Amino acid sequence: MFVPLTILDFLHRAERVYGARVGVIDEPQQPAPSLGALTYARVGELARAQAAGLDALGIGFGERVAIVSQNAARLLVSFFGVAGHGRTLVPINFRLSPHEIDYIVGHAGASLLLVDPELDAALADVKCARRLVLGAETDALLYRDQAPLAWTPDEGATATINYTSGTTARPKGVQLTHRNLWLNATTFALHAGVNDRDVYLHTLPMFHCNGWGMPFALAGLGAAQHVLRKIDGAEILRRVERHGITLMCAAPAVCNAVLAAAASWPGPPPGRGRVRVICAGAPPPTRTIERIEAELGWEFMQIYGLTETSPLLTINRRRAEWDPLDPRERAEKLGRAGAPALGVELRVDEHGEVLARSNVVLAGYWREPEASAAALADDWFHTGDGGYLDDEGYLVISDRKKDVIISGGENISSIEVEDVLCSHPAVAEVAVIGVPDDRWGETVKALVVLAPGQQASEAELIAHCRERLAHYKCPTSVELRDELARTATGKLQKFKLRAPYWQGRAKAVN
Ligand code: AMP
Repeated sequence: MFVPLTILDFLHRAERVYGARVGVIDEPQQPAPSLGALTYARVGELARAQAAGLDALGIGFGERVAIVSQNAARLLVSFFGVAGHGRTLVPINFRLSPHEIDYIVGHAGASLLLVDPELDAALADVKCARRLVLGAETDALLYRDQAPLAWTPDEGATATINYTSGTTARPKGVQLTHRNLWLNATTFALHAGVNDRDVYLHTLPMFHCNGWGMPFALAGLGAAQHVLRKIDGAEILRRVERHGITLMCAAPAVCNAVLAAAASWPGPPPGRGRVRVICAGAPPPTRTIERIEAELGWEFMQIYGLTETSPLLTINRRRAEWDPLDPRERAEKLGRAGAPALGVELRVDEHGEVLARSNVVLAGYWREPEASAAALADDWFHTGDGGYLDDEGYLVISDRKKDVIISGGENISSIEVEDVLCSHPAVAEVAVIGVPDDRWGETVKALVVLAPGQQASEAELIAHCRERLAHYKCPTSVELRDELARTATGKLQKFKLRAPYWQGRAKAVN
């Protein structure tokens, strides 16, 4: 009587209602031959052929399939082919170092690793029982022209595991169920007004929390989705002009890159009155919002959430009563994280931490029972973000309780960077903090106490990190100190160390 809420539902509806429509347009410029323009009927065929390929490779239901790929139609199809057919997809951030990716593939216990051809050589040392490079030669293995084994749809099954950097030295695997993803995608679509006239541009890395659910929402509602492989401001504008884009998602740093490109665009930038841009990942500067509305004429929306919440928790979209406001005031209203989305309850505890309750909260952290128990302990999910609900019931994120730096919308665990710096023989003590940065919102700064009699230059310490960590996680500056502020029990006082760099600002996050 009840239909299980699985992500396959979105594909089935796309095939049934919009089968003849071109739904997915692959990136034309990529090392693997482009899949070109795919109707939703074809996307469905490819997904089933991929599931049959997994059957033939002996990958059983419930096993993990890791994928490291820049945005590509093959990655999009894998959401349906792998996760939609009873396996768990583990989409991995392609910017991570080979060492970090090796850890994730091992920790997830993946039986198969799918790799973007451009990344294959760099990832040669990543260990996995089986590995296939995405593209023409292995398509024959990965896509089989036969019916796949029938998976009994189960909304409680883990659809994806998304690794995210948090408060621990190692990334944790966020287990999201089909039900989580289904509810996130439908509520997101409802709030953002996704419809069959929409032409979406994948400006957000799809590995990032399932592209915020967009691959599912757009398919189910018959919208077209263009794949963008390399995120670049001018290229985004060119695609907006060429393909009549109406919708995209972007971190504040990407919004700023688009604005910078628009400044040198010959003539009025494209998409005025047509494009809606959904921004999240970090708090967008009010000035950015104002400029998007004024200089581009695009509608600005903000959402707030975490990988752990699939991600949608709040949404802020222009309301009718804000129409008469002057642009600056409106931008300030839109600068708040937003009002709770349907199905979300929010509260701020006595420490100022934002807590959430919803059906989009993760099932647990993969193979981390203690972390899972802690995250789900008292029936409220602890976001680690500091904030308040204002008199309109809108959430404002003003601080961060967790030891995480957000640069260009990507989370960086301070502890992970500290661990790497401590492995340098000249380093005695280290504190890694986020400091404001005009381009990236925040950037990584290391405060280092050298061991007695030891020498190490800033450049040397940064190079040490670059060999071991993804570039975006590496400090952009290192300051040598005689000592670091600590509590009586010896705990680093990060808020004291951060304070001088954030002085005079309304918020302690960017
Ligand atoms: P991730 O799990 O990578 O999606 O990162 C989640 C974190 O990004 C949150 O805990 C926040 O710290 C931050 N974040 C996401 N959206 C917003 C937003 N609209 N405003 C402020 N911070 C945000």
